[in-house]
Amino acid sequence: MYYSVFEVFRIGVGPSSSHTVGPMTAANTFLAELGAQGVMGDVKRVRARLYGSLALTGVGHATDFAVIAGLLGEVPEDTDPLIAHQRVALVRNTKTLQLGCGGPAVDFDPVEDLVFHKDKFLAEHPNGMLLEAFDGDGATLHHNAYFSIGGGAVLDRAAITSEPRDGAEVDVRAVRYPFANAAELLAQCQRHNLSIPDLIWQNELAYQDEDATRQRLLKVWSVMQMSLDRGLSSTEEFLPGGLKVRRRAPTLYRKACEATGKRTGDFRAMDTVSAFAIAVNEENASGGKVVTAPTNGSAGVIPAVLGYVTRLMHADEDQAELERYITRFLLTSAGIGMLYKKNASISAAEMGCQGEIGVSCSMAAAGLAAVLGASNAQIENAAEIGMEHNLGMTCDPIGGLVQVPCIERNSMGAMKAINAARLAMASDGEHLVSLDAVIETMRQTGQDLQSKYKETSTGGLAATVVYC
Ligand code: SF4
Repeated sequence: MYYSVFEVFRIGVGPSSSHTVGPMTAANTFLAELGAQGVMGDVKRVRARLYGSLALTGVGHATDFAVIAGLLGEVPEDTDPLIAHQRVALVRNTKTLQLGCGGPAVDFDPVEDLVFHKDKFLAEHPNGMLLEAFDGDGATLHHNAYFSIGGGAVLDRAAITSEPRDGAEVDVRAVRYPFANAAELLAQCQRHNLSIPDLIWQNELAYQDEDATRQRLLKVWSVMQMSLDRGLSSTEEFLPGGLKVRRRAPTLYRKACEATGKRTGDFRAMDTVSAFAIAVNEENASGGKVVTAPTNGSAGVIPAVLGYVTRLMHADEDQAELERYITRFLLTSAGIGMLYKKNASISAAEMGCQGEIGVSCSMAAAGLAAVLGASNAQIENAAEIGMEHNLGMTCDPIGGLVQVPCIERNSMGAMKAINAARLAMASDGEHLVSLDAVIETMRQTGQDLQSKYKETSTGGLAATVVYC
């Protein structure tokens, strides 16, 4: 079993990878199935049923928008969020939906045809949805259940119940240096005298050639940077959704740039990284385009830490050298993210926030260590520290919106990641808790967390904070 780097880093839209990107992708898949079965032309009506966490936090996480946009044929990686929202608004007004992929215009009343089953969970996964298509007599032409398993990845019922769980994985024989856990990754590196990023690079060539791999990595960084810059320069005062949360990134960044002297100047780098992380996640909260890293809720951590490398530490380097840092960082981070996807989960509905911010912190710590010249053992140690101090973190977004505590958590995740890399590099890589042990601990802790702390907005801050 193996993941591509680009199954860890997916380009999509905010605010949630599991609740926005995943459902949009599921709707795209449903359209493809209608076409493959030759029934697309007969469809007169479609209906979507959302279950469990998708229903409980679906409105705050824009799942309703995502399903309609996906049925219209909008694809997460290519969609222009502004245009997609206009198209979805038209569906709400006209109660007519032009199915994508060359499909017909069908009846679709979001009030009746988008059903939120808040008290029901499908057995296979907390993020379940059912899509149905009917003919003019109301007979079912096609239906399928889909599960948004985290980070924008989606499996249908057949795939989630088959082993292995991840239909998108490439056969291990196609990958040059397979590994199932961190210990095997380190052993492969040692056996073949490779660094972690070099090994991940070699494996990625099972998916596409060197040039395409490099271009895709740089595109990921380009989308990350665009979200960062949009967030830093936004002129909007408030985030959408009704909590009246102010956008802070532009002011934070301006103050960090102007900071001088003992009281503020000493914190300049820290405040800049914080502004970067918050900028990306304010964009995510606004439904903008971001990269899942490994999820949307945690999309700001890696751009903030990699931005620290490219914009602060190495701002004077030439483009070729910067690209070397960027690719090494992203390859290393993705390699660590794969371990969490494979041996635990990056779904907050399964793991709580430790599976989002905790994993992104771990990935960023490893990426930073790699570009700072750490040994493989130190990189593994950095990733381990990055998770160890996020264990048990619950998911409790107030109002079901990916805003509070989510946005600040990205800043905290980025800070911890930098500290984790520094701590790891201050030692020789020897440490008591292995990365594999901490991933297994995260998995067990996630299983033990009550469901009210796993992306349902029924516990934690979501339950104790009153807002109007
Ligand atoms: S609390 Fe954490 S896991 Fe939950 S939505 Fe916010 S960022 Fe995601």
